[in-house]
Amino acid sequence: MSQHDLVVIGAGPGGYVAAIRAAQLGLNVACVERENALGGTCLRVGCIPSKALLEASELYRMAQSHLSEFGVTVEGVKLDVPKMMGRKDQIVSTLTKGIDGLFRKNKITRYTGHGRIPAPGRVQVDGPKPVELIAKNILIATGSVSAPLKGVEIDGNLIGTSTEALAYPEVPGHLVVIGAGVIGLELGCVWARLGSKVTVLEYLNRILPGMDTEIANEAQRMLKKQGLDFKLGMRVTGARVVDGRCVVECEGQPSIDCDRVLLAVGRLPNTGDLGLDALNVARTNRGFIQVDRHFQTSIPGIYAIGDAIPGPMLAHKAEEEGVACAEGLAGKYCHVNYDAIPGVVYTDPEIASVGKTEEQLKDGGIPYKVGSFPFMANGRAKALGQTEGRVKILAHAETDRILGVHIIGPRAGDLIAEAVIAIECGASSEDIARSSHAHPTLSEAIKEAAFAVDRRAIHM
Ligand code: FAD
Ligand code: NAD
Repeated sequence: MSQHDLVVIGAGPGGYVAAIRAAQLGLNVACVERENALGGTCLRVGCIPSKALLEASELYRMAQSHLSEFGVTVEGVKLDVPKMMGRKDQIVSTLTKGIDGLFRKNKITRYTGHGRIPAPGRVQVDGPKPVELIAKNILIATGSVSAPLKGVEIDGNLIGTSTEALAYPEVPGHLVVIGAGVIGLELGCVWARLGSKVTVLEYLNRILPGMDTEIANEAQRMLKKQGLDFKLGMRVTGARVVDGRCVVECEGQPSIDCDRVLLAVGRLPNTGDLGLDALNVARTNRGFIQVDRHFQTSIPGIYAIGDAIPGPMLAHKAEEEGVACAEGLAGKYCHVNYDAIPGVVYTDPEIASVGKTEEQLKDGGIPYKVGSFPFMANGRAKALGQTEGRVKILAHAETDRILGVHIIGPRAGDLIAEAVIAIECGASSEDIARSSHAHPTLSEAIKEAAFAVDRRAIHM
């Protein structure tokens, strides 16, 4: 029986980062992963392949209709879906092999197989070479799976989840997306750009729940212009394949005939089949593992992080928790600032946010000021030909401390980093307004929005 200081179950961004950090801190670490490729949902069937397709499909759209605006004429633009998919697969393969290399470099022992916890301090690995491990500490980082929807018959082909939508062999004529959340919008945009008619069915009367409402409404207007057909307030009651076509049923509406269906109504923690019931590990009613501020579960010596515990289901949130948990196990300070975790939707334009939304401030009775600045008035955005959107800063009305930043516009996902640091450091809008921002850059829109908090934007 092999003995380790820490056995991590799951090699996604939570698990592999925790394993590396713990090894750096001198712990003897093993990681159990049931897939051959390391990297989890994020690297294999999530963040990375979706961004590869978003970039490729955006280039196709640019070449088709927007390059001519720059005085660049491209004729005979053709789409090669297999090549696009091949490039995506190559990126995934390079990155997942990179994690193998990092494991070797950090002397992390890898076990391939399904991990289960028969008792505290023990991990059973069922795989090609079954083995039982003895562990001083166990970290559950088993991630999440797509949530099913009653009546929607997933066949893993025509009716599927994001995993299928990342690998359609050809452009569907008509794609119905169930759920106007992050996955629905990102993958809906990929296929709309490549030529599909895309209908998005959303249960609520808005898209992107949880995002600042004003920004989400602006996003809806922009994405509608790009061809996404939003049907809000729709209760989907069923979807099935009939004679090679898909039929989607919604309460009180005529059924919709389409080529493919993408179900994207959220994700659920992947915490079944780990032996948690027998151990009595406390979970929420939705199956998320409950942890204390050191990520310890209700059973001493068993920890959990990432999508398997409550909180935003984001790769960088899982990574922060992985580092904090590993440092805690090594006797260091263990802390994650959940107020400073950004969220990005990689549509065009991108949508990014950190901190509180305007609705949260209103609900909490927190007095605030708003500064807003449009990319239309930003020189670099003009040069890029991407002037839609704006930066919105929410600052405390009395202390001026930045409480939330919401950006819809070009490279919003990169720009938000400045706002994350501002929130992390407790900065005021005055701090940003007084900091020099290089000209001409998109980041000047953040500086101007900070000026706008006190009604003194220069270029508006
Ligand atoms: P996971 O990445 O899910 O990893 C868990 C790992 O555990 C898996 O490899 C799994 O095989 C393994 N495992 C599970 N059970 C066992 C077991 N019993 N034994 C052994 N191994 C096991 N987030 C972002 O921040 N940015 C994005 O752009 C983004 N895009 C996304 C796009 C899509 C299409 C999807 C589906 C998700 C996206 N996410 C994105 C979310 C992100 O992928 C997750 O938040 C992140 O992967 C969670 O990390 P994790 O380590 O908790 O779990
Ligand atoms: P989501 O929670 O973002 O969106 C689900 C949407 O489905 C919501 O708008 C919800 O109202 C809607 N919905 C729920 N039930 C419905 C029903 N019966 N009919 C119609 N609509 C219904 O979930 P997702 O898009 O599946 O993404 C899952 C997770 O993956 C998210 O938590 C997200 O954080 C993560 N993710 C992140 C990124 C990113 O960071 N860029 C990208 C993809 C996924």
